[in-house]
Amino acid sequence: MTEITRDVVIVGAGAAGLTAANELRKAGLSVAVLEARDRVGGRLWTDVIDGAMLELGGQWVSPDQDALIETVADLGLETFSRYREGESVYVGPDGVAHRFTGEMFPVSADTERTIAEITERLDAMVAEIDPDRPWAHEKAAEWDAVSWDAWLRAQTDDDEAVRNLAFATGSAMLTKPTHSFSLLASLLMAASAGSYSHLVDADFILDKRVVGGLQQVPLLLAERLGDDVFLGQPVRTLEWDASTSSATGGGVTAVADGMTVRARHAILALAPVLYPRISFVPPLPRLQHQMHQHLSMGFVIKVHAVYETPFWRDKGLSGTAFSPYELSHEAYDNSNHGDERGTLVGFVSDRTADDLFRLSAEERKERILESLSHYYGEEAKSPVVYYESDWGTEEWTRGAYAASFDIGGLARYGEYLREPVGPIHFACSDIAGPGYQHVDGAIRMGRHAASEILTTRSE
Ligand code: FAD
Repeated sequence: MTEITRDVVIVGAGAAGLTAANELRKAGLSVAVLEARDRVGGRLWTDVIDGAMLELGGQWVSPDQDALIETVADLGLETFSRYREGESVYVGPDGVAHRFTGEMFPVSADTERTIAEITERLDAMVAEIDPDRPWAHEKAAEWDAVSWDAWLRAQTDDDEAVRNLAFATGSAMLTKPTHSFSLLASLLMAASAGSYSHLVDADFILDKRVVGGLQQVPLLLAERLGDDVFLGQPVRTLEWDASTSSATGGGVTAVADGMTVRARHAILALAPVLYPRISFVPPLPRLQHQMHQHLSMGFVIKVHAVYETPFWRDKGLSGTAFSPYELSHEAYDNSNHGDERGTLVGFVSDRTADDLFRLSAEERKERILESLSHYYGEEAKSPVVYYESDWGTEEWTRGAYAASFDIGGLARYGEYLREPVGPIHFACSDIAGPGYQHVDGAIRMGRHAASEILTTRSE
């Protein structure tokens, strides 16, 4: 067993951990990043499957994501815009594909009015929420006690309006059934992107991609750290000195499969649902034990279908398609920069994803492609490459896109999420304010944890 000593040990080589490590190194501290997998990047994973480059995890960058945009620029990476010329497709309750342009999709005038009114109400509520402190709002407890679905259904009995409003933070973001998370969680999701209107605007939220894939961000960050990143080293035990404060950084010992790191401070840069996989010695305090049990991962299958050509463009379609009635509730043109082939990406979320995984792989593929064909036509059924990103089976992630609180958890525990425990600090997209559940939030949290350590050491 190798033993090394550093100022800070960082557990997890995702965007959060690698950002923290680079910030600390810049400030002159020594670091070691221990990563369970045999690759860096965590939920960022660009891979070549059957000859097609696919973004198996996170990929899109939106204009509000300053921290990610700065990092992308700092690393010398180029971005390109998602293809969006032509008409979008909406499948309504009649099961018919309706083509449209502009922001509003084709529904009845009444439904359109209802959606506009509730969106305005939501934008006003979101404007009152500080994404860094949603629990501080005077109505936080009340808004955290009602489910997103129940709140929407109390606003209108127009089912089509409810389904369309619900899915922006439900299937499309928190990827949980809308009865299982609160109005407050939904408002946080929207506030973290600036407004509810931003979330439903695909041209905003799914604006750009990185040429060559977003995993280059963690790969290049890791390159800067050189030999201080250790792969295949799942941390099993974290011994920490509970008698010391964060400032004195009394000491931690991280025990991984093949090495031990002694350090003054630790940063846990992993999804919070995985904290309980580490044996803390002594155990974490009561509050953390309780809090971590109220966080769970959402679940979505990201489906990639590659075709000889982007055939939908010839039909005047942008590739942007959605429907709360479809198995794949949203789908987009995801063709790579400079690639002649066309790629569609679709998403199947929460209970629908559970149902699909009860089928064989062949049946699942058939059902998903059938759903895509409702948006794009029969050609969608015959991709040359087909792949499903299933993060539910990834031992070191266990779901997608990220973790969120159950009903009542955010108001009850939210303020303690980022609080260090003695020498242990926390960093992950899942505990971010702005950029919550996104790479931007991971980078912000990495910077935050690093600055906490630097501040306490300078005091
Ligand atoms: P992670 O990436 O989860 O990194 C944590 C790391 O810790 C992992 O490498 C893990 O292996 C490691 N680890 C866990 N346990 C241990 C242990 N005990 N010891 C050592 N290492 C450990 N975001 C966007 O901004 N845009 C998108 O388009 C987008 N799409 C997404 C699509 C999918 C399918 C998924 C899954 C995510 C998507 N996201 C997107 C979210 C984004 O990818 C994540 O929010 C972000 O990458 C999380 O970074 P992180 O560093 O906080 O956590």
